This record gives sequence, structure tokens and C-alpha cells, in this order.
Amino acid sequence: MAPEMIPIEGEQKKRVCYFFDSDVSGFHYGPGHPMKPTRIRMCHSLVMNYGLYKKMEIFRAKPATKREMTQFHSDDYVDFLSRITPVNMNSFIKEQHKYNVGDDCPVFDGLFDYCSISAGGSMEGAARLSRDKCDIAINWAGGLHHAKKSEASGFCYVNDIVLGILELLRYHTRVLYIDIDVHHGDGVEEAFYTTDRVMTVSFHKYGEFFPGTGELRDIGIGKGKYYALNFPLRDGLSDENYKSVFEPVIKQVMETYDPGAVVLQCGTDSLSGDKLGCFNVSMRGHANCVKFVKSFNKPLLMVGGGGYTMRNVSRCWAYETGLAAGVELGSEIPINEYYEYFGPDYQLDVKSSNMEDMNSRGYLDRVKNIVLDHLRHTGGAPSVQMSGMFSQTNTYCPLTHYSIDIPRAPIDAQMDDPNADEDLIPPDERRPQRLLDSRRQADGEMSDSDDEGEDDRRDSRSHRDPDSAGPASGGRRFGTAVGIMSTGSTHGIGPTVALPVPTAVATTTPAESDMDIDDDEEAPLSQTVRGKAKASSTTNDSMPVDPPQTQTDTDVSVS
Ligand SMILES: [Zn+2]
Repeated sequence: MAPEMIPIEGEQKKRVCYFFDSDVSGFHYGPGHPMKPTRIRMCHSLVMNYGLYKKMEIFRAKPATKREMTQFHSDDYVDFLSRITPVNMNSFIKEQHKYNVGDDCPVFDGLFDYCSISAGGSMEGAARLSRDKCDIAINWAGGLHHAKKSEASGFCYVNDIVLGILELLRYHTRVLYIDIDVHHGDGVEEAFYTTDRVMTVSFHKYGEFFPGTGELRDIGIGKGKYYALNFPLRDGLSDENYKSVFEPVIKQVMETYDPGAVVLQCGTDSLSGDKLGCFNVSMRGHANCVKFVKSFNKPLLMVGGGGYTMRNVSRCWAYETGLAAGVELGSEIPINEYYEYFGPDYQLDVKSSNMEDMNSRGYLDRVKNIVLDHLRHTGGAPSVQMSGMFSQTNTYCPLTHYSIDIPRAPIDAQMDDPNADEDLIPPDERRPQRLLDSRRQADGEMSDSDDEGEDDRRDSRSHRDPDSAGPASGGRRFGTAVGIMSTGSTHGIGPTVALPVPTAVATTTPAESDMDIDDDEEAPLSQTVRGKAKASSTTNDSMPVDPPQTQTDTDVSVS
């Protein structure tokens, strides 16, 4: 039986550009590491065998260059990534510590090439959207939202999303970033924390969970105040509850902010049964977010992200690729090179389990109302005069010391190459086959079925010492940081805030007692400072949001 693709009725036809580089599956984070780039190839195998290549253009992007990466990342960090290898890593001990490379973010063969492929897809996707060559661009190798300016984090080294958004900002006054990964989209939020040209909206598990940021009260600072929105969630989130908060928040964001383009991070570790995640969202519940965002008919860049139960990651992203292309994939998995992974039922759906949803109706309503209230403070869509658009080239964040240049000229003249369509697959000749061969996953590893278990996620711990796990770059983080693979306490760490903070940031005297949260945790100086900055902008009265669970977490009481 031919695999089904059922056209979705009433859908506006979209031009979809899909980026895939077959090299991506050949990279390995190391034995036992939950991040497996092979999942991208598994997804691609479903995409091809369902016949989706008939519905969209498939590209292999030009790998991002070092110069392109330094649009966001620091020169020294990118240089380090380009030089470090498993062979020479012992001569970079100090740098590994400085850039947080080693544990969650290991050095592996071809690391820089992997980053280049991931970033290249998102940048080229953004470029094609901006030039109106497509309506939706998809890069499942992207979505690495934890990477910081000078630091790897949570399996992410180069932040392809920030680079893609910077590309979109060359053409669009306002870009909306939505993150449905189970983890907070900290790297992207931090990059644009002080600007109103990017609104970041992240829905994520918060409390005792990596990366520890993304609190309800984190809303941006300076010109960016109210342009970062966070929706903290608890374990066991169901489809119904997800929909009940996602849709009204995103609808209001679209109306209020009116973005010129949207970037949707589709991390699938928010699916039920993920090895590191803790939500109970089904494939259809996850895909509902894609459907809903797509319905606003804005130029849309869809990127990947987390997702550690490979067969479910590939199912979900294949299904969402179909939705982008206007078709609903049939429930029978077609024959493909990974077919045995989809047994015993060989069905496309990822179902929810009977896990209890710790997000009560009351909790969700209260958080939703606070988020919508933050949104009202923006006072509508900010405008940037186009004539001055590129003269506002530098957004400096005194908290993070981030300084991002919005490019005045095309990032890479090559992107304007009129022959760019030559990148259409099959382009396998374009890249030396030896790369494919040398990095192709050993057959043995693919049958490593213990990596695919659904019951072992709590056993998948980082081996890193929680007390020393914080990146050591200039003492920017605090002692309680833990790795993404750990389930240890992380809440209250606060964002990766740099010190010292200029006093100008805290312009008014905050009610400190109201803002000091997480009293059970060691309150680092900079967290308090950040609290002050936020307090100056927070006007609502004390309104506790009681978590629907018995643990003592005061982290959602707001002032
Ligand atoms: Zn994640």
C-alpha cells in the first residue's frame, strides 16, 4: 500500500523549503550520549518514503562559515570550536573549561562541521524566507537553543536560531521566536533580551530542571522589557492543557506584536516518553502548535531542537513536515531504512500515556493571565523606521554584556548567488563522499536499543559533578548548575548573568522582599540584581500562583 498523504482541506498552499544534509547523521556525541544526530536522518527517511519530496523543495545548505557564526558568537569561541578535536583536546584543557565543552557538550570528531551544517540550514532557510523564495523553511538539524555567545550548553555549541533570526532582522522589523522544547530557550532569549525587535516566547518545564531559567517574571530589560515571555510548566502536561494555553497566548502575541516573520523551535523532548523530558504531549498535541502557528500565514522558519527518543522525534518531525506542506501523513509507517525501529505497531502516532498532569486548570489560567498581562505592557507592535533600521546596529545588554550587530549588508554575498538553486538535492557530489563514509553511524550503534527505551530517562544522568558543573567562564554562573542530563535542582540559578552589572540598570528601587524568590536556594548576587531590574518594571500586585504540587517551590509567586 502506498503511503498516504492526505491534502488538508482549506489550507493555503505554501512553498516549503526543506533543508537536509546527509552528513548530519554521521556525527556522534559519544557512547551513551542521548543526543543522536541520526534522528535527523531517520526523520528524513520517513519524509522521503512518505513521498513528501513531491510537495516541497529539498536543499542542502551551504555550511555556515566561521565568519557567519561570529555574527553572534565571539571570535575566540568560534575559533576554538573550529580547532578542537578529540586528538588535540588535551592541549585545550583551559579553553574547554572556559567554553563549557567536555561533559554534556563533548568534543567529537567533526564537531565544527556539525555546527556548520546545523547553522547553515537555519541561516539559508531565513535567507530564502526573506527573499520570498518560500513561505516555510524547515531545518530539523537546527534549533540548538541553549548555545551562548561564548559558551556551549545543553548539547548546543552554535546557536543556529540566533543566526537565523539575525538574518531575518535584515529584512523584517520584528521577528517572533516561539519555543516548544521541554527546556527553556535560554540562549535565544538571552541574545535578544534587550531588544524589542525580537519577541521570544518559551513554553517549558520549570523547576528542578535544566537550564534553570525561564521564570514567569523574566520579561526582558531596557527596550526589550516585555518582549521576552516565559510560560513555566510542570510535569505531565497534556495535549488539552497545552492547547489551552498555547493558542490564546500565541494568538494574542500575533495580534499585539504583529511580527514580520516567525521562528518556531520544535524540540520534541516535550513529547510523551522522551528520555529527558517530562511532559505527556502526543505527536498530535505537539503538531497542533505547528498548525496553529502556521495558520497566521507569516514567513515561518521551523527548526528542530531537543528530542531523545529517536523513533518519536522522527515520527513527529516527519508529521510536522507534512503539515507544513499541507498534507496529513497516513498512520502506517512506510518501509524505510529504519523500519524496525517503529515496531511493534509501525504506526506514525506518538501517543500520550496515563501520566498525571501536574498542571492544574487554576495554575495554567493564572500563569496565562500573567503572561497576557505582560504582553499588554508592550503597548502594541514597536516600529523601527526602515531608514534607521540598520543604523540601530548594536543592541548592548548590560546584564549579559551581549552586543549584537544587526548586519548592514548581506552576511554572505554567496547567499545572493542566483545559481543557489543548484543546491537542490541530489547534490551528493557536492560533498566528498569520504565525509559520509567516515562519519556514518556504525550499524551496531543503531541497534543500541537501550538508548531507545522509554523507561530509562531518569537513569540517564550526567556524570558531571553538580557542584562544579557550572561553566567556568569568568564565574558567570552559580554553583547549583547541573547538566541537561541531570534531574537535580536547577531552579533559581537565574539566567547566565554577567557581573558586574552597571548600576544604571536598576533604575528604581525595587521591593526586594517581594522579588527575592527561591529563598530556599542560595541567592546569588546577580540574581538579586536581575530581580531588581525586573522589579523596576513589574507593577502588578502580589499574586501568588500556586503550583499544583506539594513540593516547596516558591518560584512562581510573583509580585
Ligand atoms: Zn530540550
